Amino acid sequence: MDLELVSEVLADEPSYRRTQVWEWAARGAGSYAEMTNLPARTRAQLEEHAPFSTLTPEHEARSVDGTVKVLFRTLDGHPVEAVLMRYRDGRRSVCLSSQSGCPLTCTFCATGAMRFRRNLTAWEIVDQALHFRRLESVDHAVFMGMGEPMLNLEAVLAAARSLPDLGVTHRRTTISTVGWLPGLTRFVDEVVEPIRLALSLHAPVDALRSELMPVNDRYPLDDVLAECRRYVALRRRKVFVEYVMLAGVNDLPEHAAELAELLDRRSFKVNLIPYNPTGAFDGSGRESIAAFKAVLDEARLPATVRLTRGRDIAAACGQLAATA
Ligand code: SAH
Repeated sequence: MDLELVSEVLADEPSYRRTQVWEWAARGAGSYAEMTNLPARTRAQLEEHAPFSTLTPEHEARSVDGTVKVLFRTLDGHPVEAVLMRYRDGRRSVCLSSQSGCPLTCTFCATGAMRFRRNLTAWEIVDQALHFRRLESVDHAVFMGMGEPMLNLEAVLAAARSLPDLGVTHRRTTISTVGWLPGLTRFVDEVVEPIRLALSLHAPVDALRSELMPVNDRYPLDDVLAECRRYVALRRRKVFVEYVMLAGVNDLPEHAAELAELLDRRSFKVNLIPYNPTGAFDGSGRESIAAFKAVLDEARLPATVRLTRGRDIAAACGQLAATA
């Protein structure tokens, strides 16, 4: 829902009308017609001049584990994916995209292989969450869909700042980045809300990281980690480190030892991610992941293995749009 457009349509109405529209939407209303405290004439005007959503769902996939993945189109036809992850403990987490496609070309990522289209607007980001909010209540959000959030920070922050109205607090909102320094620096300096930060690391040394993530040539490990440590010092919250497990590439015990050397346990918490195969790489097996984690445990670096969700519906970043 483009609230600017809504405001324009409501230009002759009292200003509280915009708030009324937003409150209905944020609580999961599915149409203007449901907004019964608005005059029928106003609802009809909105209907005619402000599309209820900036995104049109085009394809939906449901996993046996309850994960729902949706491929949307923007009004100008670009693909956008979002995922609702349901966990047994009751958590409902939405995974949001910040861009259609991605200009970075991480070798293991399906989105990285797509053509970059454009940054999403704040409304296009919020509309992904609103889509799922209409299905059920949601309480977590991760910016781990398509795109690099730090390349579209303005819109990502505007969206994140509106999520509490949908039931997702800042403490339960995580922005994930490859370590794009200009955006990351702004994030560290300017964002006073307790929004969490995740870093996609994937390798403990520059040479390997540059192979997997060309962006590392531009913003090498030391600089990115220094910025993360500044976040920890300023905000007093740990940074989550994402580490996608690629068989024979970055998953050997010596990689784990280097990782434990690189990251101090007061600043970082590692999340080992089972790879959703998208072509180029094989995911590490259970045993390699367990052995890798054992090395981190031994070094007392906090580490968890991410629960896999939606594997049967190709729910990894960019997988749906890349095949559509
Ligand atoms: N550009 C941001 C946010 C989007 S990706 C970033 O890179 O952090 C969110 C996470 O999913 C990243 O850690 C990314 O490396 C990971 N990822 C990408 N493709 C994957 C796949 N096929 N299987 C598992 N994780 C993947």
